[in-house]
Amino acid sequence: SMKVAQEYVNEVYETIQTRNPGEQEFHQAVKEIFDSLVPVFAKHPKYMNNGILERISEPERIITFRVPWVDDFGKVRVNRGFRVQFSSAIGPYKGGIRFHPSVNASIIKFLGFEQIFKNALTGQPIGGGKGGSDFDPKGKSDGEVMRFTQSFMTELCKYIGPDTDVPAGDIGVGAREIGYMFGQYKRIRGGFEAGVLTGKGLGYGGSLARTEATGYGVVYFVEEMLKDQGASMKGRTVVVSGSGNVSIYAMEKAMQLGASVVACSDSNGYIYDKNGINLETVKRLKEVERKRISDYVKEHPQAEYREGCSGIWEIPCDVALPCATQNEIDANSARILVKNGVRAIGEGANMPSTLEAIEVFLQSGVLFGPAKAANAGGVSVSALEMAQNSMRLAWTFEEVDAKLHEIMINIYRTSMKAAAEYGHPGNLVVGANIAGFIKVADAMMVQGLV
Ligand code: GLU
Repeated sequence: SMKVAQEYVNEVYETIQTRNPGEQEFHQAVKEIFDSLVPVFAKHPKYMNNGILERISEPERIITFRVPWVDDFGKVRVNRGFRVQFSSAIGPYKGGIRFHPSVNASIIKFLGFEQIFKNALTGQPIGGGKGGSDFDPKGKSDGEVMRFTQSFMTELCKYIGPDTDVPAGDIGVGAREIGYMFGQYKRIRGGFEAGVLTGKGLGYGGSLARTEATGYGVVYFVEEMLKDQGASMKGRTVVVSGSGNVSIYAMEKAMQLGASVVACSDSNGYIYDKNGINLETVKRLKEVERKRISDYVKEHPQAEYREGCSGIWEIPCDVALPCATQNEIDANSARILVKNGVRAIGEGANMPSTLEAIEVFLQSGVLFGPAKAANAGGVSVSALEMAQNSMRLAWTFEEVDAKLHEIMINIYRTSMKAAAEYGHPGNLVVGANIAGFIKVADAMMVQGLV
């Protein structure tokens, strides 16, 4: 019954809080999943009896390591490295590496935990993992980034491999860092194992459309939600937070589909250009020159720059795409978005909305595309990159993009179907969580007590 299921979920949630003290982000991610799963346990007690929840919420392995490096002034610096190998039930651990000063065990565990369900939802054979370091790339020279990244891989390489664990990028880790990691891994291993990392450069085993995949995927997902209401992205006013890889290609696809993107941000503040952001400028500032978003207004004086991050959600828009970082939308920002008439939210970042913000969106009836579904395009194309590496061939941009589009449509339909089947029609949070969970749980059920 629902009551028994709810009690079971509460009990396991309490042990997780006790066992992982102070890990607020991890608790938050676990709570969201667990609450979604109550109707699953009510309908299928077998998952309770097999202790699936107790098992799936404990990482298979957590590796923490020292990363020593020397800065440009000859000073020895030490950072902490992490890799959480959360679940290998349906494939090798898969998930990005984050370099950001906020990185700690809680952050990496929340990300790794979510990755399990997101990756299952893609329909690709990939398990869940995540890694990172509290290293701050901001203001570091290219040489410093290289030495740090090489040191990071010197330790990490003991635990990864094309059939074991396949890292990729995340915040602070892009094409440059993946290149340094790949070079170091290859040097230590003494062999070209293309499939050990994804997000590689196109010249050495990378996939076309991987750079664009997360951002394009978010917009494909939102377009699918809108389509169900007889609407589309065309003519919509869009606000996108962030100005990194996810943001830039979400803006690009939104513009291609005829939307007007009026704002984006970085960790210092946001720009508002009511006639539409000039994406070429943002790309050059962020991807090539590694500058701040505030520099945009020097070239486009009609645009406004404002300090601070949450103010971006006060700009009236039809579609909001949070593509920056976790908990960037709180209940207050969610209420402002709703009050200003937002129609759809697509989460490009991981866990960008607090639990309270999600509640506000769901109660208000706006279309809400949760991160595990909406931002799964990146890791989906990572899985396609692994497939191409195994086959030793390369698909065209059009082929990969078409597969990505198909995967995003599938994720939308699968999530909608699960939501309806378990009594929450239209609730994509519940739908995505349930669909992802069942795939992993069924694999665990037949593999013995693992
Ligand atoms: N970091 C991305 C994510 O959060 C991509 C992971 C990958 O490609 O493995 O899903």
